[in-house]
Amino acid sequence: MSRRGRARDRATRWAVAAMAAAALLGRGAGCGGPGAREAPPAIVLVTLDTFRADHLGCGGSADVRTPHLDRLARRSLHWFDAVTGIPLTTPSHATILTGRSPRSHGLLKNRMRLPEGVTSVAEILKASGYRTGAVVSSRIVLGPEFGLDRGFDEYEVVEPDRYPGSGEGARTTEAAVDWLAERGGTGSFLWVHYFDPHLPYLPPDPFDRLHDGDYDGPYHRTAEPVQQIFHDAEADVDLRDIRHQAALYAAEVSFVDRCVGGLVRAREQARGVPESAREDVLLVTADHGEGLFEHNRYLGHDLLLYETSLRVPLLLAGATGRRPGLVKEGARTRDVAPTLLGLTGIDVPPEMEGRDLLRDSPPAGEDALFVAESHPSREKASSLYAIRTEEHKLVWYPRQRRKEGYDLVRDPGERNDLYGTEPFWDVLFGDLGLDLKRRPVGRPRTVDEETGGADAATREALRSLGYVD
Ligand SMILES: [Zn+2]
Repeated sequence: MSRRGRARDRATRWAVAAMAAAALLGRGAGCGGPGAREAPPAIVLVTLDTFRADHLGCGGSADVRTPHLDRLARRSLHWFDAVTGIPLTTPSHATILTGRSPRSHGLLKNRMRLPEGVTSVAEILKASGYRTGAVVSSRIVLGPEFGLDRGFDEYEVVEPDRYPGSGEGARTTEAAVDWLAERGGTGSFLWVHYFDPHLPYLPPDPFDRLHDGDYDGPYHRTAEPVQQIFHDAEADVDLRDIRHQAALYAAEVSFVDRCVGGLVRAREQARGVPESAREDVLLVTADHGEGLFEHNRYLGHDLLLYETSLRVPLLLAGATGRRPGLVKEGARTRDVAPTLLGLTGIDVPPEMEGRDLLRDSPPAGEDALFVAESHPSREKASSLYAIRTEEHKLVWYPRQRRKEGYDLVRDPGERNDLYGTEPFWDVLFGDLGLDLKRRPVGRPRTVDEETGGADAATREALRSLGYVD
C-alpha cells in the first residue's frame, strides 16, 4: 500500500479507534479491532544514546562485548538494517516518540522544543489509560523544557556525577527498576534513556581497561573535547591516541550493555517470567551511532551522515506473535511508536509516518526512499542531507556544492564514492530535492535562541559533549 493509501486507511481506523481506545484498555474490557488484547501489555522502551549498530556482538562485532544485549537479541526480533533520520539526540528522540520525521515534528537541532499539537506515543498511551514514566540520563538534551516529557506521569532526569555522559547508567537502571516496582506491570509504559557512550568517553573502572589496557598516552579518560584536537590535521596526534578513543567508546558500550542487563534481569525477577512472556514488550534502540575516525578523522555523530552515525540497533522482545530472529527488511526509528501502539491494539494516528513493523508491509517504490539530515549547532558547520534506498545512498553537502554516492551493499564502509558514474545518481538527487521542496527546512530555533542564549553552565556542558566549536 502506498504511503498516502496507508495514511487514508489509518485515518479511518483512527477515527473509530480513538473512541474505542479508552474502553479497549479499560481493565479487562477485551473488545476492539485487530490486535486487541485481553490485557494491555507492559511496555519498556530503552534508548541507548550514541550506540552503533555494528558494536553489538549480535550485530557483527567480533571485538566489542555486549553479552546482555546479545542474550536479549536471541529472544527478540532483530532488525539488522535500522536507521535514524537525524543523528542528533533531541530531534532523534522526538522521532522515536512521535513516529514522525524531523521536518514533520519540527525538531531539527538539539535543544529545540516539541511544538504543541505534535502528539507522542506517551500521550496516546496515557490518554488510553496507561501509567507512564520516563527515566532519562541527560538534562542538557532531554530536559523537560524540550517537551518530550509530555504524556509522562513521571519524568525523572538522572544527573551526572560530574560530566554529562559519564557513569549515569547504573543510577538510571536503579531509577527505572524502582519505577517498575511501584508502577510497572500490565498497562504501564516506561521509557529508559542511557547516555554513557556519548562523548566524553569516561568508562568507569574496570571497563576503562577492557580494551587497549596498555595505553599510557595523554588521552585516557579525558573530558577535554578530543574530537577537535584529533580533527585538526596540523595537530601532532599519534595513531595510538586515535585508536584508544575507539577502545574507550567500545568500553562505554560494554558498560551500558551491563546496565541494560541489570534492567532486564530486575524486570524478569519482578514479573517472575522471561521477556518472552505474553503480555510484556521490551524494545531497545538508539538515537544514532558514532563516527570513530573512519571518515576525515571524524569523531562524533552530529555532523556527518555516514552509516556509522545513522545505523542503530533495533530489538523487540516479548509478545510480538512472531518467532525471534533476524529481520531482513529495513526499519527506521520513526517505526518505533507505530509498532508499540500496534502491540497495544491502539490504531496508529494518520500523522505518524512510520509503519507498524509487525503489521504493515515494508515500503516499496518511492515510499522506500528515506531522507536523513543533520543540522549542527556549531557555527562553522552546515546542514547536510542524504537520501537512501535499500542499496544506495547519496549525500549532499550544500555549502561545499558537493555530492557523494555509495553502494551500501558492496561498499558498506562508504569508501568508494560513485557519484556521477551513472545517471541514476542525478535521479536520486532529484528525489531529494522534491522531498525538501515538499517540506522546507525553515528556520529552526533552539530554546536558547528564543531566550537570548544559553547560560554558562549549559555552554560548558555542550562543550564537554562536543557540540560547540
Ligand atoms: Zn544522542
